[in-house]
Amino acid sequence: MKIQSVTTKLYQWKGPVKTTDTIFATPLSALPFQDDSQAPFRFFSWLVVEIKTDEGHTGIGNAGLCPDVTKLIIDSKLKGLLLGENPLNTEYLYEKMYRSSVAYGRKGAVLAAISAVDIALWDIKGHVLQQPVFMLMGGRTKPSIPTYYSRLYTRNLDSLQAEAAHYKSEGFTGMKLRCGYPLTEGTAGMKKNVEMVKVVRETVGDDVDIMLEAYMGFNFAYAKELLRALEPYHLRWAEELLLPDEIHLFAKLKEYTDIPLSGGEHEYTRYGFHDLLQADALDIFQFDTNRVGGFTEALKICTLAQMHGVEVIPHGGQMHNLHVVMSQFASPMAEYFPQTEIEVGNEMFWYIFDGEAIAEGGRLQLDDHKPGVGLTLKTQGLENFNIIE
Ligand SMILES: [Mg+2]
Repeated sequence: MKIQSVTTKLYQWKGPVKTTDTIFATPLSALPFQDDSQAPFRFFSWLVVEIKTDEGHTGIGNAGLCPDVTKLIIDSKLKGLLLGENPLNTEYLYEKMYRSSVAYGRKGAVLAAISAVDIALWDIKGHVLQQPVFMLMGGRTKPSIPTYYSRLYTRNLDSLQAEAAHYKSEGFTGMKLRCGYPLTEGTAGMKKNVEMVKVVRETVGDDVDIMLEAYMGFNFAYAKELLRALEPYHLRWAEELLLPDEIHLFAKLKEYTDIPLSGGEHEYTRYGFHDLLQADALDIFQFDTNRVGGFTEALKICTLAQMHGVEVIPHGGQMHNLHVVMSQFASPMAEYFPQTEIEVGNEMFWYIFDGEAIAEGGRLQLDDHKPGVGLTLKTQGLENFNIIE
């Protein structure tokens, strides 16, 4: 079997975007003079790669990280490495792509591009063998996947309370809120961030996990102080308090606090996660399979993490991550971005693919009989997209 074609499609959203009081800390929000410190972190486009074989199989992969650049990397750099190759040789093809791009790659958009291709190759493998990808990666390690609700974007305490109560009533046993007040708002902002957590804890009681997202928005001194103030609310974890490269500072924070620290949403490959493990920097890894190096690399990171007692709870509730969670003992649960109006970009994939898993009673299920990743591209309702091929 040979790879016959590699094509990319950039889906650019041109429809309505819901504007709310959605504000949260970002790396840019730590700087003064920022009119809109969230702009670079909203993403209203998505990249899809389709790989076809000479035997009539098609695999679909995707990337959410800077999709316009990712498209260019696949079209101009990776495609030529893939044509004519056997798509089932996923280990070899990953190495070929990684080693060919290592001089300018290793992280970021290049890894997102490699990941999208790797996901498509595993999708083909699943179709050829007539098995879902999770069955090829180890099979079922849990009857269904516990998931936590990832929203609570509002800073309005009444809305926050109503939202949290609603998710609990739907059967979710975990939920994540965002730090609504950036570093530049200082001590007063920190108090408000703590107040947000307090309100959610008081609303849902002690038996629901609460996670707090900082999206790389703080520095060491702020993070240390914030963690101290959050101690009474027994968070399940505090997420991405610092920039991804501040591994040594994560390690210092981890020494200092009992609150589990999570990160890795913006880390790449087994090398990046090995560095985090060597430094004993985090309690929970949150790679996204469509950035970290695809299924091929995600499996290796899960093994490393398990050896060090680190949990893997991937970023994003898309199918590619659910296959990892289902097949790996290192991974106890998944994130869930529900289908909503377009607001920050995390919800975009619902409008492009059919077959994404919908949570019921706080859990997600994968079909034992659906081969590959289990996604198809929507053919209708695409009028709100510019699709660039
Ligand atoms: Mg995150």
